[in-house]
Amino acid sequence: MTRVLLLGGTTEASRLAEVLAARGVEAVFSYAGRTEAPKAQPLPQRVGGFGGVAGLVAYLREGRFTHVVDATHPFAAQMSRNAVAACAEAGVPLIALERPAWQAGPGDDWVAVADVAGAVAALPDRGARVFLAIGKQTLEPFAAKPGNFYLLRLVDPPEGALPLADAEAVIARGPFTEEGDVALMRARGITHVVAKNAGGAGAEAKLAAARALGLRVVMIDRPALPARRVVGEIGAVLDWIVHSGTVSAGTERGV
Ligand code: NAP
Repeated sequence: MTRVLLLGGTTEASRLAEVLAARGVEAVFSYAGRTEAPKAQPLPQRVGGFGGVAGLVAYLREGRFTHVVDATHPFAAQMSRNAVAACAEAGVPLIALERPAWQAGPGDDWVAVADVAGAVAALPDRGARVFLAIGKQTLEPFAAKPGNFYLLRLVDPPEGALPLADAEAVIARGPFTEEGDVALMRARGITHVVAKNAGGAGAEAKLAAARALGLRVVMIDRPALPARRVVGEIGAVLDWIVHSGTVSAGTERGV
């Protein structure tokens, strides 16, 4: 019997959950638990880490899962690495649903960096007004440049003091619009945008807004992941599930 573990946290994961539920595929939706009120799913849900590779292997075995779909955020690299290792150990086939990375186009002023440290290095030492559109987990490194102002956009209000001296947090959940992001950036006098190359439509507005305003974007590249089967469409995931893990619907992609 087919039983799918869906590792979620993205718009695409939520769409896939709807399709699986509509087709009556038995599946469990897993959230990391990064937001206080995650979107309710039409599948049974679980929240929180599994306890590393060993915990995920045990969870897969106990739950008698036959397929794992990794539809996590492209920057949730630890979860994706753990899924590759755990599925290999448990003998459960794995597929990743991955949206294409954003690409710079005409009118864009992007500088690509490999990681958060690279993004800090790419900013001016002082005087910049930076829209730090990277969530809440990797803010501390920017404290190395206290002469800049930082605008944060977070899903939940910060629990304690922000780790940045001159910063403001706007609380909002996407999807966002270009008009809204232009207005936000104008109102705060933003000069630079720092973004993770997540891809997808929901968070793309800030890039269109930066283009419209002629602002520099410091774009953090996706982390490298081990080789795994990757597809870009929900339909390809469904085909793969239906054909019980044959390679027909996907491609093998390495680092
Ligand atoms: P991560 O670093 O890959 O994961 C850290 C640990 O969280 C994993 O080892 C796992 O714990 C647990 N985890 C992650 N995703 C899970 C899931 N779907 N179900 C169950 N457990 C899960 O990922 P992250 O800490 O969540 O995020 C890393 C970056 O991704 C952030 O900087 C953020 O920008 C971006 N991001 C993530 C999400 C998301 O939904 N996770 C959404 C938007 C952006 P165990 O090892 O204990 O199993």
